[in-house]
Amino acid sequence: MTPANNHRLEELLQLKPLELVEKYGAPLYVYNAERIKHQLRRMTQSFNVPSLKINYACKALTNINVLRYLKSQECGLDTVSIQEVKLGLYAGFEPQDIIYTPNCVSIEEISEAVGLGVKINIDNTSILEQFGHLHPEVPVCIRVNPHIMAGGSSKISVGHIDSKFGISIHQMPHVLRVVKTTGLQVEGLHMHTGSDILDSGVFLQGAEIFFNLAEDFRDLEYMDFGSGFKVPYKEGDISTDVEELGEKLSERFNDFCKNYGRDLTLMFEPGKFLVSEAGFFLVKSNVVKQTTSTVFVGIDSGLNHLIRPMFYNSHHEISNVSNPAGKTRIYTVVGYICETDTFGINRKLPEVREGDILAFHNAGAYCFSMASIYNLRRLPAEVYIRNNEVTLARPVRGYLDHVDDLLSSYE
Ligand SMILES: *Cc1c(COP(=O)(O)O)cnc(C)c1O
Repeated sequence: MTPANNHRLEELLQLKPLELVEKYGAPLYVYNAERIKHQLRRMTQSFNVPSLKINYACKALTNINVLRYLKSQECGLDTVSIQEVKLGLYAGFEPQDIIYTPNCVSIEEISEAVGLGVKINIDNTSILEQFGHLHPEVPVCIRVNPHIMAGGSSKISVGHIDSKFGISIHQMPHVLRVVKTTGLQVEGLHMHTGSDILDSGVFLQGAEIFFNLAEDFRDLEYMDFGSGFKVPYKEGDISTDVEELGEKLSERFNDFCKNYGRDLTLMFEPGKFLVSEAGFFLVKSNVVKQTTSTVFVGIDSGLNHLIRPMFYNSHHEISNVSNPAGKTRIYTVVGYICETDTFGINRKLPEVREGDILAFHNAGAYCFSMASIYNLRRLPAEVYIRNNEVTLARPVRGYLDHVDDLLSSYE
């Protein structure tokens, strides 16, 4: 176990994971609000601009307790579906604090969002034109594709030339024609170059592109730099140096506002950065199975509950919380789903016995929110911990009470 992991394991042990499993059962998602608070502070303290707005990208983790907490901390919400919009309103966000950034959804769904009063971000010229005819009086934000290749996995890099996201900077003459003809007011420019940005240089490059475009858009109120803030998943991973980015971008942004003639709001929409490290996923070891080549640990969960390792090849650190001081051995940790379902190969873990509780780290972002009912397995329960107070944030859900039921219970 590396020092960094030790540190994270200590944070988890303070949440008393074995007691949580005893009370709520396994598998169990656990969210620590203190960590969310810490990450949010890092962001708000790094940017020195007259107006900063952090819109939490709720697709990372839609748990209502997390949404309410972030609202209490003056965050807005970034949403990508009408369902997320409704959940945000239910959680108490004001419509003007919700930005709706859909991709390839129908104009009908966009009109529904207009009816709910949220900010609208448009990412293709066809919809922009239809929107201009239907809602010429509603201000919009335009999602720009700056064609910056932000590295990392091709599944989550969204700013490159073949990406389906955003309106290419080369199409701006067309955008301007539509805006002029329909009389639309463009209140914001937006870019989100992907979830795997390697350094602050990408944001700074993006900023220069925005500043050039702004010359043609005189009604702007905000510039939204999206997300792409990286957090470490394992020792040695690169993470976004928010403090350095804050210093450089703030200076450049403030200069720009002077030239533009007005103070604009600087916006970001982090998901992973705020919640990834706040989450742990606790599972039980069902079977320790020795084959000719491998010692497998088979757990009471699978890609139905945590798909990132299989889907993105993501690395999630694993700890044995039942036997943290045990002798180190080598295991391949697998799930119970009936296809290849591997969480980690050749992991060094303190000896795992059947019945031990293991913890996946970085389980806050894109873990529960991507969970499914594959194999008709139930969705795990979630607990939310703030100031040592544990709340059962969502009970175990079966297949019949999946998404619609979940939403109707919020509506
Ligand atoms: C997914 C998404 C985000 C959040 O990305 P993270 O990597 O989780 O920070 C932000 N903005 C938009 C438009 C997104 O689709």
